[in-house]
Amino acid sequence: MAAVAPFPEVLGQAAVQSALQRALESNRLPHALLFYGPKGTGKFAAAVSLAKVLLCEKKNGCGVCSGCKLITALSHPDLLITIPLPSAGSSPEKKKEEARQELYTNFLEKKKKNLYDPVWKENADFITVSDLQALQDRLSRRPMEGDWQMAILVEADRLQLPQGANKLLKTLEEPHKNTLIILIAERPKNLLPTILSRTQKFFFPPLSNEQVVGFAAKEFGLSKKEALESAAMATGSIAKLYFLQNEEELERRSQAWEVLKLTLAGQEASLFLALKQAADTRKKEEVLSFLSWLEFFLWEFFCLSELKQPERVVSLDLKPEFEKAASAQKFSFPYLVALQEVGKTRADLERNVNFRLALFWLFARILRAKGRG
Ligand SMILES: [Zn+2]
Repeated sequence: MAAVAPFPEVLGQAAVQSALQRALESNRLPHALLFYGPKGTGKFAAAVSLAKVLLCEKKNGCGVCSGCKLITALSHPDLLITIPLPSAGSSPEKKKEEARQELYTNFLEKKKKNLYDPVWKENADFITVSDLQALQDRLSRRPMEGDWQMAILVEADRLQLPQGANKLLKTLEEPHKNTLIILIAERPKNLLPTILSRTQKFFFPPLSNEQVVGFAAKEFGLSKKEALESAAMATGSIAKLYFLQNEEELERRSQAWEVLKLTLAGQEASLFLALKQAADTRKKEEVLSFLSWLEFFLWEFFCLSELKQPERVVSLDLKPEFEKAASAQKFSFPYLVALQEVGKTRADLERNVNFRLALFWLFARILRAKGRG
C-alpha cells in the first residue's frame, strides 16, 4: 500500500493516528479494531478517516476520487454504519420502522456536517439483533464498489442482550478477506471478553484544552474568551462542547453541582428535592448526562481534597466554590465509593429502571458510605 497521508479529519490523537498509519503502511490491519475512550474524542472521525483511505481509489484518502467523495457523504455502499436504534415496542410495526429510519437519517445528516457532532440518539435502545444479522449477511457478500468493505458499529457497547453479543461474535469469528470492522465504545467493559479478545484496541484519551479551544473557535465561531470558558467546561470532549452550546446541558451541569454541594454539606432534605428535579425528564440521555457531570465533579473533588492536586480541577468557573466546599469538609468523603456507585447507577439506567428511584437509591448508598466514613 502506498504511503499514507495523515488523517486530516481527526483532531489530535497523535498516538492513535501514527499506530493506524503504521498498520496501513505495512498492510497489517487486523479484521477488527476497538476504538474506545470518553465521548467526544474523535473515535467516529478516526473510523471514517480510515474508511476513506481503504475505500479510496488511490488508497490514500485523496479526497477527490469518487470513493472519497462517497465516504465524505457517508453514503459509500461498502461503508456500513450501525448505531443503536429503537427496538420493538408497543407501537405498530410501521411506525417503529419510520422512527428508526428517521433517527438513522438524522444521525448521518449530522455526522456528514461534522464528524464530531455527538447527535442525541433519543429513544435509541441498543444495536438490535436484526441489525446485526443484516450486517453479518452484508459482510458475507463481496464489496459493491472496490476491494474493501468496512463496518463501523457506533456505541458497540450497547448491544441487544443476550443474542446481540453472540451475533456480533459470530461476525467477528468469520472474518472475510479485506473486511474491517470497527467497534466504537465508551465502556468496553460492557463487551464480552470473547469479543474484546478479537479486536486490536486503540485508546482515545481526552483532547487537550488547546485542541478544544481551537475547535470551539472554528466550528462555533466563539470569541477567544468564550472558547476558553467553554473548553474549560468541556474537559477534553468535543461532545461536551456541543452539549454546552445548549442551555439544557448547562442546566444539567449546574444541577449536578448543586446535588454534590448539598451532599457534601449533608443537607439531605434539599438534596432529595434537587434529585427529584434532576430525574424529572423523559429522556434517559439527560439523566445519563447528569450522572456524567456528577462523576466528573466527584473526580475533581477527589483530586482537590484527597490527592491535594488542585491543578487537576479543570472546571475553572466552579473552582472557587469547589475550594470553599472542600475546606468546609470536616471528615473525608468517600469519593471513590461514590464514583463506583454512579457507575452502577448508569448500568441500572441502561436496563430501563425508573429515573427517580435510581437517583434516590444512588444517593442513599452514597450517604450511607459517607456516614460510615
Ligand atoms: Zn480518494
